Amino acid sequence: MIPFAKPLLGEEEAAAASEAILSGWVMQGPKVKAFEDSFASCVGSKYACAVSSCTSALHMALQTVGVRPGDIVITVSHSFIATANSVRHCGAEPVFVDIEPDTFNMSADSLEKCLSEDCEVRDGKFYYRDVSRLAVGESPLRAFIDKGVDVTKSNIGRLAAVMPVHQLGMPCDLNAILQLAGKYNLPVVEDAACALGSEININGEWEKIGRPHGDIACFSFQTRKIITTGDGGMLTTNNADYDKRFRLLRNHGMGSSSFERHGINQVVIEQYLTTGYCYRMTDIQAAVGIEQLKKLDVMLNNRKQAADLYREKLKEIAWLKTPQEPDYCRTNWQTYTLMLQDNAPMSRDELMQRLHSLGIANRRGVMNAHEEPPYNSCKWGNLIHSEKVNRSSLLLPMSGSITIEQAEFVVNATKTIKNYSQHIKEVSP
Ligand SMILES: *Cc1c(COP(=O)(O)O)cnc(C)c1O
Repeated sequence: MIPFAKPLLGEEEAAAASEAILSGWVMQGPKVKAFEDSFASCVGSKYACAVSSCTSALHMALQTVGVRPGDIVITVSHSFIATANSVRHCGAEPVFVDIEPDTFNMSADSLEKCLSEDCEVRDGKFYYRDVSRLAVGESPLRAFIDKGVDVTKSNIGRLAAVMPVHQLGMPCDLNAILQLAGKYNLPVVEDAACALGSEININGEWEKIGRPHGDIACFSFQTRKIITTGDGGMLTTNNADYDKRFRLLRNHGMGSSSFERHGINQVVIEQYLTTGYCYRMTDIQAAVGIEQLKKLDVMLNNRKQAADLYREKLKEIAWLKTPQEPDYCRTNWQTYTLMLQDNAPMSRDELMQRLHSLGIANRRGVMNAHEEPPYNSCKWGNLIHSEKVNRSSLLLPMSGSITIEQAEFVVNATKTIKNYSQHIKEVSP
């Protein structure tokens, strides 16, 4: 079986984890600091703060840019559900806009439509107009609406942020999205969970995702992402106050960390400055992350070689569409999608089953949060492309460890399916 995604982990990571353990310091400490420094220089940000996951990073990021209970954050439904969940963790509610069918990323046109048609200004502030339709199911807005709060006389439904996703590593149209967010004075948090190593052309310059271009970018080190620490996340920003805030929030609001106190020759009575979380990364994880970053170029190259082969060899199957990079970006090929065209001779699920039977692990395309129980009580009629892409796409094997031989096996097997189905079509009337 060709694995769907296998991280590239070896003796280097094992030795680094072992060294961290034998050092006697396993919680957030010197390795976390070193990992943060390497990460910041890798993406070109001033600051990088390591945490327990991308979901915890998104939660802290939204809170830090000012998302409060009762607020609204505009994002996409077509993403891993953690994107939407992180909004609810702030007591706020996501409003979903549609994606572009080619990049699977937030459509700037849909964002503009939402801002200009579904939102309004009241007392100099910007609000989502129809808050009560969102206050259903598990929405935290119910805490206000069910108590009879008069929406027009309260702050409920205030627009607090825009959160685009660089879905599957393909950068979203940040130029257009940042311009719109700027026009409405909204902070931008980038869900860059999958986007380490991806690049975007901003004003004629190629820059790494995570610099960041919005206010904060959040990365994931879960095992299917570009580098892994088992689980883990990173926030990048150029705002020193934000970075300070992350360091407080991730560690129970503690004014000075254990490692800082450990280093000084003096008794320190720590203070707890805000209601924080336990979102730390351990030094064992960070030690692995440092080694993973050293392999980043190798892993990105393995992905690119496989993606180039997939595109080159699968283009002859006319009913399968392979992903294209828009001019403004370069993807890291975190995931490789195939879209079945309307004239496909079989259903998406049938193709998935056939590939599986041929020894190729594969997955359905990206989920839609609005179709899952926590979010499906609110009816969304505007997510046409999100729904279409979800139904007609599948994901081929792809990871930092993929080999050319594996990719060749995948394309050759996929081509036999093509021939088989053409045969079926010819003989059936
Ligand atoms: C994986 C992923 C997340 C969640 O990452 P964790 O580190 O598992 O919390 C969030 N958003 C997107 C787009 C993802 O792909």
